[in-house]
Amino acid sequence: MYPNEHYKRAIEERYSSIVPQSGLRAVPMAHLGALPATRNARDFEVDFRYIDVPSLCEVSADARWSWLEGSGLLRDLKARSAVTSKRQKGGAETSATDNLLAASQTVCTCDACCHGNLDPGNVLVTDDGYLLVGWDLARIAPRVYDEFSIVFHPDIPTSIENRLVQFEDLVARHDDSCPLRSADSVDVAYMLLEAKIKDCASWGDSPEANRLVASYSDMLAELKGYRASTMAEN
Ligand SMILES: [Zn+2]
Repeated sequence: MYPNEHYKRAIEERYSSIVPQSGLRAVPMAHLGALPATRNARDFEVDFRYIDVPSLCEVSADARWSWLEGSGLLRDLKARSAVTSKRQKGGAETSATDNLLAASQTVCTCDACCHGNLDPGNVLVTDDGYLLVGWDLARIAPRVYDEFSIVFHPDIPTSIENRLVQFEDLVARHDDSCPLRSADSVDVAYMLLEAKIKDCASWGDSPEANRLVASYSDMLAELKGYRASTMAEN
């Protein structure tokens, strides 16, 4: 499922603050082999170029979370404009082939242009901020989809409390009518993590899929412990 021309334009407009040079699709050389590059290049006239900066995955693990908090990426995610989607007009919902998207659609009614694959390997660390790469899954989707993906990514280690604080800060910018605004963020994180684990498990028995299933499961266990400790306090 690839975004059509309308989405492409919308993404360029809406993400102009996220992609500092409008229309630029920066792809580090190491990732070219992993992308369906030929297909995307033909469909979207993608301008591939090599940028000699590390991805967030190449930053030391201990420094990734504090980098994220200071990078402006969370601020820009928050600043995304609302987009009226087909489902808001009463049309069919996106056929959700991934569990995280389906779960996001049940908890969040505000749609925005989503990167669709916001993991630290797709975040380039530049001198003055960041660039996002890997736009091949970009689409109109519930804004929580991107927000959850980056804030609850196991390759950006931090405490569950820190994740929840940032998540709640992002959710505070959702529409007043969005169910997320009044939901318990622990419950929501729990549900989205379970969906994400299902998605990773569905990728098959590869070392990377197994690693992610284990990492997300650890985070789920941490969230359970956090919930138990806060319930004990109250
Ligand atoms: Zn929402």
